Amino acid sequence: MLLSVIVPCYNEELVVNETYKRLSEVMKQTGMDYELVFINDGSRDQTFPLLYQLSQTDPAVKIINFSRNFGHQCAVTAGINNCNGDLAVIIDADLQDPPEVILDMLDIQQKENANVVYGVRKKRDGESKFKLLTAKYFYRTLNKMSDVQFPVDTGDFRLIDRKIINEFNRLHEKNKYIRGLISWMGYKQLPCYYERKERFAGETKYPLKKMLKFASTGLLSFSKKPLKMAIWTGIASVLIGLIYAIVILIMKIISPESFVVGWTSIIFIVIFFGGIQLLTIGILGEYIGNLFDEAKDRPEYIINEKINL
Ligand code: UDP
Ligand code: MG
Repeated sequence: MLLSVIVPCYNEELVVNETYKRLSEVMKQTGMDYELVFINDGSRDQTFPLLYQLSQTDPAVKIINFSRNFGHQCAVTAGINNCNGDLAVIIDADLQDPPEVILDMLDIQQKENANVVYGVRKKRDGESKFKLLTAKYFYRTLNKMSDVQFPVDTGDFRLIDRKIINEFNRLHEKNKYIRGLISWMGYKQLPCYYERKERFAGETKYPLKKMLKFASTGLLSFSKKPLKMAIWTGIASVLIGLIYAIVILIMKIISPESFVVGWTSIIFIVIFFGGIQLLTIGILGEYIGNLFDEAKDRPEYIINEKINL
């Protein structure tokens, strides 16, 4: 049995050595053969040289070096596509997901013969109130909007087996929302509860802008509800428009003299309906943008070099 550990790294010079140490210790405790697949996602700091040094002394350290920064989900995808393990663990480089939890995951996997063991965050230390709140509501809203049900408070930290890896390798969609795709596959998936820690060092590589992009990827690739909502907003505004037209007509008939030509109401209506139109066109645009990405069919990532792989 070979166990692969997939670690996406973007500007993680402050943590990679410690991550390597902690992961190696845990791997030795498992008694399994293992490989540590680090994906250097176009880091602009010393991440790559540090990883390279490790790979020269330890053949279990394997590196996929991207040609530029493609993003977290692309890095994990590259790891899954290129790993050799019968089992694989996806884990962040920053030690927020404690490597020791992998032992519990393996335990559950072996006892229950599960295909996926996903980490569920019982508690999250050292993260802003804003992040906790937005994450909480995002996962719950996504579940309401989507046809597939996802476990809540779950990141990409999980153990997957060869069946899942092989199925994953058949998926060619762009803008992947990996945790969603793996839930969507079915098979036997079990939770493993753990406490998410503070980052070991460095700062988050997911600023608000990336968080929003990620949330929209999750929503757009698993739900057509926004399109339906656009239709319903359209219907609602047509109804409001009709009622208002009738009211005006009646007013004009009953008392034409008291009827003042309303500038305010016209402006209000123009802004309101203009807004709704732009909003619904925007929703359409998001889906068309995704179709555009699929149609171009560019690779999700470009590998500059592989080391020890
Ligand atoms: N990451 C990456 N490419 C990126 C952004 C992040 O490979 O463009 C990696 C990062 O190095 C880390 C993981 O993805 O290992 C999660 O990122 P981070 O810890 O910054 O996210 P957070 O835990 O704050 O959501
Ligand atoms: Mg983190």
